[in-house]
Amino acid sequence: MLSYLHAFHAGNFADVQKHGALCLITSMMQVKPSPITCFDTHAGSALYDLDDARAQKTGEADSGIQALWAHRQALASDDWSGYLDVLSGLNPAGSRLKRYPGSPGWLANAKRPDDRIVLFELHPTEQARLTDWAAGRDVTVRCADGLTGMLRSLPPATPRLLVLIDPSYEVRKDYQTVASTLVSAWQRCRHGVFLIWYPILPGNPADVLLAGVKSSSVTKVLRSELRLASPPARGMSGSGLLVVNPPWGFGERFDRMMGEAGADALLNASHQLDWWVPETTV
Ligand code: SAM
Repeated sequence: MLSYLHAFHAGNFADVQKHGALCLITSMMQVKPSPITCFDTHAGSALYDLDDARAQKTGEADSGIQALWAHRQALASDDWSGYLDVLSGLNPAGSRLKRYPGSPGWLANAKRPDDRIVLFELHPTEQARLTDWAAGRDVTVRCADGLTGMLRSLPPATPRLLVLIDPSYEVRKDYQTVASTLVSAWQRCRHGVFLIWYPILPGNPADVLLAGVKSSSVTKVLRSELRLASPPARGMSGSGLLVVNPPWGFGERFDRMMGEAGADALLNASHQLDWWVPETTV
């Protein structure tokens, strides 16, 4: 039984980190003309209303994208322009945002004619919203389990692959399942770029995922962690990403973006970046 709805959390600090990374990775991969297949294993509903009662109830966007947007002139890196342009295009001019895209929206915005986008979603309400949003767009929606669905589709028909794995981790076993799925997917497409999100929570449940990746044969794994300076009493104190096979130079550019976003008036968070598993030298 799925109960998580991303509408409560859309545009929070973790979304800024995850979607900022997604935007930068797609733009860096698209420097080469060869087509990319993008799998979004946990798509959500693609577009969120930040004035919706659910977003207002948590107020997470206020300390996330709304704070960043209000101070966007402080973002000096050119790499923010793609991300900010998408938000400008979706919203009327002003200091507050009403609409915020989910991962399918970011991917669709970046899509070139020969790229493919496949979106998986299991929650019935989210499926319905996603399917409505997808009508008339050149994307495929699959109402199926995203991890097994993505695995079954590998290797992709295009020369290149981008996979976003962004579960809600409602079940603790998900950390282990994500690690084992990544290993299987990497064995089927070793040059694929995989972006895996995880929450930083009390008790560090994501250690199971991190250890599973470290002890596997997967190499060239960058880890990005954004930790809040004043975390709430309950819930996430930070947000993590693993990026397998990041485009060359991604780490430096993304670290700069997150360093700027972490300023006190914006997300008020610190960013650490390291090679969780380096490239093998043998
Ligand atoms: N990726 C979205 C974004 O960045 O905007 C947010 C996704 S949200 C964190 C996780 C989503 O995964 C929820 O909508 C949930 O219903 C869905 N979900 C949960 N288990 C799933 C599964 N096994 N396969 C596909 N979707 C699943």
